[in-house]
Amino acid sequence: MAELSRRGLFGTTAAGLAGLGIARAEAATLPSDQPAALFGSVSQDRVILPPLHDTSTDSDPPTVNSDPVKARLGVAVVGLGHLALNQILPGFGHAKSVRVTALVSGERDKARAVAAQYGVPETHLYDYANFDKLRDNPDVDIVYIVLPNALHMEYTVRAAQAGMHVLCEKPMATNVADARAMIDACAKAKRRLMIAYRMQYEPHQRRLIAMARDPANGPIRLIDAVNGQNDANNGQWRQKKAMAGGGSLVDVGIYCFNAARYITGEEPVEVTGRITRPDSDPRFREIEDIAQFTLRFPSGTVATCSSGYSFHQSNHLRVQSEKAWFEMSPAFSYNSLELRVGRKAGEANTVSTIGLAPNDQFAREMDAFAWSIRNDKTPLTPGEEGLQDLRIIEAIYRSAASGGAPVSLAGGPTGRWDVTRGMLPGIEGMS
Ligand code: NDP
Repeated sequence: MAELSRRGLFGTTAAGLAGLGIARAEAATLPSDQPAALFGSVSQDRVILPPLHDTSTDSDPPTVNSDPVKARLGVAVVGLGHLALNQILPGFGHAKSVRVTALVSGERDKARAVAAQYGVPETHLYDYANFDKLRDNPDVDIVYIVLPNALHMEYTVRAAQAGMHVLCEKPMATNVADARAMIDACAKAKRRLMIAYRMQYEPHQRRLIAMARDPANGPIRLIDAVNGQNDANNGQWRQKKAMAGGGSLVDVGIYCFNAARYITGEEPVEVTGRITRPDSDPRFREIEDIAQFTLRFPSGTVATCSSGYSFHQSNHLRVQSEKAWFEMSPAFSYNSLELRVGRKAGEANTVSTIGLAPNDQFAREMDAFAWSIRNDKTPLTPGEEGLQDLRIIEAIYRSAASGGAPVSLAGGPTGRWDVTRGMLPGIEGMS
């Protein structure tokens, strides 16, 4: 284990310092009055920093770069849009087990600019025509599909056929048949398929699941969830039925009923749905604005959910158990999450707040997938999890088309618990 000592730095050549990104003049001014151990150490290419906080306070988050870069799984990010540029690519900076090694884009100039930012070589840039050449790139293990929904099927199948493991954004596809084709293609190629349900890897949501399922809090009776945003009126693919598969339900409403499923661990037996499409608003020529839907679970739990595309960004989740309630507001955002818990303690009704250390949801889900691949385990959110959500979406639309009549989900997965899920990844904060 090599200590990162100041003395070592002073003795380093200019070339060595340049490699560390440190100019000689800058290094010469660094203080040297701390014990060398406080600057950390490097063991097998991993940087280990000493504790910052006393044990009486919160534990330090693990140092980010915990896997040597060469040992990380390489990821090709497909589709350089909002999510890829603003969340996923920055997430690699917090990831421990993956690195970005290739980009796929229809816009060469954009791809070049992004590649320069993340150190991806020109030879590792692809477009949709030569996508299949990824098979010849030894630096790519995983393909992360971040395309409009209707394209998920084609690129998942092509990625699997090229020998890649696939991480695919939600919703998995625009219909049940495509979802099945994706599962089949990955199974045939013996590659792992994970749907990027980031909330199922998020520590506050994990805590909520554990507390809500704790028998001490009694059965879960009612789950109430809302997720919505105000979409720009610009003809984006989200407003085209063929590309999106639907409106707010498939894009943001999915978080609400997926949460009801992962919190209870059950599968619904029946759904109802209602949708509205304001005639005068061009955003809703092809898709719904508001979707209101309910799910009935075998244990008797009921979920009432709403989604929308025409109101200020807002999302919340409230779980009412017999002896406690659990609330997150926001519930599905990228950050600022907190869990509030209401229950009786002694003689008093109390409300407590659980605020865990900030975490990068995209780094966590990518590291979780890497764990599944390395340990040859089914990911927590495999294709079957995405397929079940599409069955529910199709049933909700069927109910809405009939004016809100209940639609049975008989014939789908049944039984408790988590029948559509794989294994909890062995990464910190998962239980
Ligand atoms: P964007 O429209 O911002 O980006 C999609 C990208 O796909 C485009 O920039 C483009 O990249 C590529 N593309 C290829 N073909 C087309 C086409 N025909 N029309 C439009 N784009 C095309 O979408 P988002 O990034 O917001 O969403 C992408 C996916 O991620 C969706 O499935 C969405 O549901 C999901 N998502 C998930 C979120 C989460 O929290 N998990 C949050 C937001 C989105 P290029 O120019 O490089 O080819």
